[in-house]
Amino acid sequence: MNCEEVKAIIPSYINHTASEAQVDAIEEHLCVCNDCRQFLGHAIDKPHIPVKEKVEAIQTEAPITTKKQGIGIWEYIVLGIGFAVLVFFIYLFFKG
Ligand SMILES: [Zn+2]
Repeated sequence: MNCEEVKAIIPSYINHTASEAQVDAIEEHLCVCNDCRQFLGHAIDKPHIPVKEKVEAIQTEAPITTKKQGIGIWEYIVLGIGFAVLVFFIYLFFKG
């Protein structure tokens, strides 16, 4: 069984609709073929999206996960508390 045949059967392999002979042949091929292992990995990850589209999806999703810019709500809260404490001590100081 060559790569094209394996990739053609992988969808039914994932859905457990492939025959026992097909499953044996695929698993035998996956042992020796890194390319088809990656194809299977992509297919399992997002079964309804072809591999090519999935790669594009990762590229468009990536900036969202790596995006960490500006000041978040917790930074504002910490700054606010710090400022309040500072004002409180200044108040105590002048109050004597
Ligand atoms: Zn292969």
